[in-house]
Amino acid sequence: MDTTDTLLQDAARRLADIRDRMAKAARLADRKPEETRLIAVSKTFGPEAIEPLLAAGQRLFGENRVQEAQAKWPALREKYPDVELHLVGQLQSNKAVDAVTLFDVIHSLDRSSLAQALARAMEKTGRRPACYVQVNIGQEDQKGGVALDALPALLEETRALNLPVVGLMCVPPVDKEPAPYFALLAKLARRHGLPRLSMGMSGDFETAITLGATEVRIGTALFGAR
Ligand SMILES: *Cc1c(COP(=O)(O)O)cnc(C)c1O
Repeated sequence: MDTTDTLLQDAARRLADIRDRMAKAARLADRKPEETRLIAVSKTFGPEAIEPLLAAGQRLFGENRVQEAQAKWPALREKYPDVELHLVGQLQSNKAVDAVTLFDVIHSLDRSSLAQALARAMEKTGRRPACYVQVNIGQEDQKGGVALDALPALLEETRALNLPVVGLMCVPPVDKEPAPYFALLAKLARRHGLPRLSMGMSGDFETAITLGATEVRIGTALFGAR
């Protein structure tokens, strides 16, 4: 067996393992496995690591930098046109046009200036990627995400701008039990009538699924350490 086959089988096995763990978590919470979508976060990894996952059937991918994604994905997309690309990292307003052009979903809408830049970018490009409002759920100083007490006003503004906001996203504090933060994000989404929840990473995706995640963002557990 040559290296390509080994890489392919290895990717298929890692993918099957994650899907299996996702399904078990869903069953625990009396949810259906297909209610949670798996986003493979491929940041820092090159095409040689990504292609085996594509060949194994994975189609949703996440990146955290616009420029890195611009360098990697156009070529991969020629081979796999049905790829769905998610931006999971912080976005600068001056990159809004690039982001809207390249990505199908944006998980990091977290401030008024960015909401306005995205609205202008969508108007200009005619593209309308679904957006998640990222919440600074642990109220941490240097973390991305809108402050809890500023969330209602930001959501109101996104509605006034007619942005396609579909849900909330969070990254809980690294050193804390994540469940209370996931539960809080779910409660906020319900309160604001938002159907989708982007929460859960390699270390905590099963907990996130039991608490209602509709998207989990998994890097390390699929690609190995960065
Ligand atoms: C890197 C990243 C992930 C994936 O993290 P892993 O722990 O490697 O699974 C998920 N979400 C965001 C916002 C990230 O930046």
